[in-house]
Amino acid sequence: MTFATLGLIEPLLRALETLGYQTPTPVQAQAIPAVLAGRDLMAAAQTGTGKTAGFALPLLQLLTMEGPKVAANSARALILCPTRELAEQVHASVAEYAQNLPLTTYAVYGGVSINPQMMKLRKGVDILVATPGRLIDLFRQNALKLNQLQTLVLDEADRMLDLGFSEELANIYRMLPKKRQTLLFSATFSDEIRTLAGQMLNDPLSIEVSPRNVAANTVKQWVVPVDKKRKAELFVHLMRKGRWKQVLVFAKTRNGVDALVDKLQGLGINADGIHGDKPQATRQRALDRFKSSEVQILVATDVAARGLDIEDLPMVVNFDLPIVAEDYIHRIGRTGRAGNTGEAISLVCADEVNMLSAIEMLTRQTLTRKMEQDFEPEHRVPDTDASGQVVKKPKKPKKPKASGGGGGKRNLGKWVDSGESAPVEPSIKPVRKVPVFNTGPRKKK
Ligand code: AMP
Repeated sequence: MTFATLGLIEPLLRALETLGYQTPTPVQAQAIPAVLAGRDLMAAAQTGTGKTAGFALPLLQLLTMEGPKVAANSARALILCPTRELAEQVHASVAEYAQNLPLTTYAVYGGVSINPQMMKLRKGVDILVATPGRLIDLFRQNALKLNQLQTLVLDEADRMLDLGFSEELANIYRMLPKKRQTLLFSATFSDEIRTLAGQMLNDPLSIEVSPRNVAANTVKQWVVPVDKKRKAELFVHLMRKGRWKQVLVFAKTRNGVDALVDKLQGLGINADGIHGDKPQATRQRALDRFKSSEVQILVATDVAARGLDIEDLPMVVNFDLPIVAEDYIHRIGRTGRAGNTGEAISLVCADEVNMLSAIEMLTRQTLTRKMEQDFEPEHRVPDTDASGQVVKKPKKPKKPKASGGGGGKRNLGKWVDSGESAPVEPSIKPVRKVPVFNTGPRKKK
């Protein structure tokens, strides 16, 4: 299958050739024809699957072929993203795909001055990428009208709800024209997402591609048990031993990010950090320097790192396990992208055993444990397995099974053909509480 057989127009095909995309990924093979045909979409796909091109290419084509010229202070298509970084990244991809088209694109998000954004919107833009809060601000200040909107894309919808944007989404929903095309992308499908989809989508086509980053054979995953107080020491030890060149490290809290960066910098290691407390410009600079390999270690919180596309990242380290098990999938998805292999190592202390268990249950695999000599924990990490069981008492240890339970079969690392797609397990239960999307348009609060 080629992009040409999916019905894309020549200027898009030329852009893809420049970018070196040869074969559509499974999500692209399914989404492109459906979006071109005007369908609403409910797609279970996450970062790393090529989903951005999956919605952006047909969207650009529709905007080029149909519809009136964009009016002042208007947008013809809106892509909503959970974080500023993701908005920037999606916008950069859209702009690349649109390089041969007479369309305008722009990204707006909070944390930076609103005035230049208002100025830019005066002439209107064909595709606007936005985070929910800033979009509402711009709308309320009359800098943006949405009556010309043809298409709405909700990118990483689950994350938007996790970040507490359900109210903003309900407000935006009220601002939209009734007649429009809506494309919803989400890594996971909780009840809340289904409610949201029920309200926003019209007879949607469901697309499901398995999360390629759960696949055992593109991302080698393992756990190193360690006492909490020795994590930083272990990290430095592993880094030196393995001669790690470029590592994205995840820490749970902003303080955790700062403490680790300070420690690493104190040892003369080239490290930087990103988290929500840092100004947008600083975050972007750290990220750019990491991408260009000027920075060797980037320490980040989940919010700051979500959706980042960093090419050929060989290694991800979970300095702390995420509180939300799904974040593990997003984190390790930063490596092993576009068919490359990667490694994801988690430094796990006894306190984190329940999080480890939740991750194993969600990913349906028992993560291999590798004890590091001289770092064996005093506080033993109880055994866990993919059933979600935690064996508290060391007397009757349960032998961990070899990793990979089914994960390998769901690998989409090699983008060969759409036949590779496999459904995301519907039986996976949410392992944490998520905010309830209860702000439907006709419901009284
Ligand atoms: P996404 O899932 O949209 O974040 O895309 C993940 C990465 O895959 C990005 O770096 C894209 O540029 C790249 N990509 C997307 N589609 C293709 C394709 N068909 N062939 C090669 N690379 C692709």
